[in-house]
Amino acid sequence: MNERICVLCTHYHPRADPHPPDRGQTCAAGRRRLEQEVMALRSAYRRLLELERVEPGANDAASRRLPAAPVPPPSNQPNVTGSKERRIPLTDVADLTAAAQLGGVTDPFGDQVGHHSVATVLNEWVRAWHERYFANQTRPAPEAGRLFGWLLGVRLELVCDADPAITDFAAEVGELRGLIRRHLGETTPKKQPMWGVPCPRCDLMSQLMLGPEDPDKYRECANCGKLMTQDEYLAHLRELVDQYRSGQKLARGQVL
Ligand SMILES: [Zn+2]
Ligand SMILES: [Zn+2]
Repeated sequence: MNERICVLCTHYHPRADPHPPDRGQTCAAGRRRLEQEVMALRSAYRRLLELERVEPGANDAASRRLPAAPVPPPSNQPNVTGSKERRIPLTDVADLTAAAQLGGVTDPFGDQVGHHSVATVLNEWVRAWHERYFANQTRPAPEAGRLFGWLLGVRLELVCDADPAITDFAAEVGELRGLIRRHLGETTPKKQPMWGVPCPRCDLMSQLMLGPEDPDKYRECANCGKLMTQDEYLAHLRELVDQYRSGQKLARGQVL
């Protein structure tokens, strides 16, 4: 019909062929994926709060356990932390759970090495969306739990339809979630290969990957980027089985 593409699936699967949105600028699977990511961020954030509450001294230990994670510096300013530049600062857990910093996240401190707190980032988005799309409703208090609650569900769906910057939001959610996970010493679940199944496009074996946290169970080829829905994947399997069976029959026929 036209050249519109689903921006969320393009964000989550940058190598896949783009597909059209079913509504606004996204498809149902893309919206579900973002919602699932936001929910995962909320639960990771809760675990982080729990860690602080249960083990007040654990923050430092958690930070020290961290590998030199590939965290982008939070600003474009030259890094002034010398040899620590690739390490997450020990104060970072506190940074992430700090109260929302009202008045913008435009990096007010040139030498800041920590991260904007979850509440600060969420509040920025919610403030903008509230102003633009929900101005006649009460704005939630700038507290992480309330911001998550306000956003999840129908409002997130609506901003997916409307805001072209939704992929920036998706990127920030993913980044915060990754940071919290590293603080908690959690590893990101590995993608599972579909062993022994060839990719329908590039034909390579065992390259179709299932993201363990993908609510729609997409399979994506690690080699060529081919993206399949669960239904398409199952149809592909059925086709392979049919081919295998007819191949066997043929082989038997040849023997006879
Ligand atoms: Zn999509
Ligand atoms: Zn492939």
